[in-house]
Amino acid sequence: MKKTLLLILVMVILLNVYAYGSTGYTNISNIALYNNSSLDSGIKTTLNISSRVEVLEEKDQWYRVKTLEGISGWIEKFFITLPSERYIVNNTVYNINIRTSPSTGSKQIGQLKPGEKAEYIDTYHSWHIIKYNGSEYYIASWLTDIEYKKSEKIYFLFDSINIRSKASLSSKVISQGNSGDSFEVLGEENGWYKIALDDKSVGYVAAWLTTHDINSPSSDNISYKKTTSDLNLRTGPSAAHNRILTIKKGETVKTVAGEKGWDRVITQSGNTGWCNSYYLKETLPLAGKVILLDPGHGGYDPGATSYSGKFEKHLNLDVAWNLKSILNKAGAAVYMTRTGDTYISNSKRGRSADKLSADILLSIHHNSLNNSDYYGMSTYYNTINYTDPSYGYNLAEAIYLNAITINGVYRDGILDRNFEVLRETNTPAALIEIGFMSNPTEEMNIYNTSFQNVMVEKIGAGIIDYFMN
Ligand code: ZN
Repeated sequence: MKKTLLLILVMVILLNVYAYGSTGYTNISNIALYNNSSLDSGIKTTLNISSRVEVLEEKDQWYRVKTLEGISGWIEKFFITLPSERYIVNNTVYNINIRTSPSTGSKQIGQLKPGEKAEYIDTYHSWHIIKYNGSEYYIASWLTDIEYKKSEKIYFLFDSINIRSKASLSSKVISQGNSGDSFEVLGEENGWYKIALDDKSVGYVAAWLTTHDINSPSSDNISYKKTTSDLNLRTGPSAAHNRILTIKKGETVKTVAGEKGWDRVITQSGNTGWCNSYYLKETLPLAGKVILLDPGHGGYDPGATSYSGKFEKHLNLDVAWNLKSILNKAGAAVYMTRTGDTYISNSKRGRSADKLSADILLSIHHNSLNNSDYYGMSTYYNTINYTDPSYGYNLAEAIYLNAITINGVYRDGILDRNFEVLRETNTPAALIEIGFMSNPTEEMNIYNTSFQNVMVEKIGAGIIDYFMN
């Protein structure tokens, strides 16, 4: 009896300790960091989606967190996603260098011996960021494997998801799963998860069809509503709860949940709380906005050629059509620089955004490099003509931070580049490189319809964030 009690006590302590010191990410944009663990304690700052935080403490439905800038405050657990705890393993027979930045030219500060493990934090520029001797360093992702702790779970986001024998769309379908099904995740391979099946065998699932946190607000549960009068934001779903502030008539808020005539909302100041649904009217978040989409290349300019020999120009156009329909549904008027396989110069693409008086221009591309190890998603802006970062950077950032929430999409950066299409325009403009066609696994992912659907959904969410914030 005593032993059992002790065991339970130890387990309880371990469960509670789990979150502390671990890395989390905000799962919604423009969310408040509070002074205390209550909605009416006042805001310290607001955080973007995908902001990395360190969890310091937990209390009821709250985490106390510290941002990368060193600001600490309280945020509801609902808005923080804690990724599974992972480590990287050297599965080669050689020592692998640990470096100070994501490049083979950077300073080497140590080595990982064969079989040795290190705590995994994130991936950037095709390099894994690891914790080593208490600090963060980089290690070549293509020489290492990511493994999960046995107890970690992922959840399926959709019905009839295929589970395959290998991390490849051409491998055999060995089982299927439905929305909400959970599986133990064992490892990660270029955007695919290795999962444990009931019969003790293993299978693979495309990571973008899964989530680490079934309770987090997903973009399909978020709607946008306008207040029809000045409206009280309260700490709970009834008039008996404390008033936090008054939202002005005509402000658009994000609704993330609801119950019994009350909406759980996030205001434009980042405050979260509850509003009486009677005074909220659904609105299209991009109503009145004019967007020019630019599918890169075309005609005699095929763009990049993929690992298996496909042309970038066709893929860019497919994604643009798909994105156009998402943006139309959100209320935007959407134009395209080309709707067929035609050549247009990059300067003409930029200038047509000005002719249209478009609010934004987004150029769609897929990346390529003569090194097939390289992968990741990046967005671009240009500062040659504009010192005001709202011309491009804010758009590039909003899209990037949303796209990076997709499991199996890795960070390659938000970069300032002198691209003609971004430079030859007076319209706020950004460019996205969705993935590397030259990497065989990423090529397979980006040509997959379900991947494209998830990606355009997130690009759309990024564009909405750009206009809302
Ligand atoms: Zn391109």
